[in-house]
Amino acid sequence: MTAVFFDIDGTLICTAGAGQDAMASAVAQCFGVPADRAGVTFAGRTDRSIVLDLFALHDIPSTEQNIATFVRRFVELLPEHLQAKQGRVLPGVSTWLQRLGARDDLYLGLITGNLHRTAHLKLEHYGISSYFHNGAGLRGGFGDDHVERDDVARMAMVQLRGLRANIVASEQVWVVGDTTRDIQCARAIGARVIAVATGGHDRSTLAAARPDVLVDDLTQATECLDEWLQ
Ligand SMILES: [Mg+2]
Repeated sequence: MTAVFFDIDGTLICTAGAGQDAMASAVAQCFGVPADRAGVTFAGRTDRSIVLDLFALHDIPSTEQNIATFVRRFVELLPEHLQAKQGRVLPGVSTWLQRLGARDDLYLGLITGNLHRTAHLKLEHYGISSYFHNGAGLRGGFGDDHVERDDVARMAMVQLRGLRANIVASEQVWVVGDTTRDIQCARAIGARVIAVATGGHDRSTLAAARPDVLVDDLTQATECLDEWLQ
């Protein structure tokens, strides 16, 4: 049994900035500030940590009530932003998901900074949510409750071990992601990692974080696919 956790933005899909635009618009509409995100980085971070930075940028108190107000509006706005932008599923992803999804002896999940609801909206928009859906919701760890991505990864592993007790060895767990934060969170759970240079960090930045496998896009690394599918 092998488990593979995918990051979303920059790894499975590129929303062409729809997510960032929707976040900035939601903050602006909820709190009457400019839709400005200057100096706030997004790549590899949890939505919860990003919104706390956006609140700080605009001097908005980071109360749970304000976060809940933001989340409601963000979820409402995201679909129209996804429609407005020319995003796409990234190269090789459809082939990977079709091959992996056809096997019930593989566990496919997500380790993402997205909120569970916005992760679902994004994957639905691009037609790939079914690969990660268990009937009740998406499998994996999400950015709703945690600021740190390592904690999101730990949450995904707790869920995995609860569902598939036969996964005990961390070398059976892989993380696929586009930033050094994905590599870091994979190490936090003892997983191996494929870094893919289709998103937030370039190849040399990813190489410096020493992933197990580094590829330009998911049309490569097919030896991993073949190994998992033996
Ligand atoms: Mg990413």
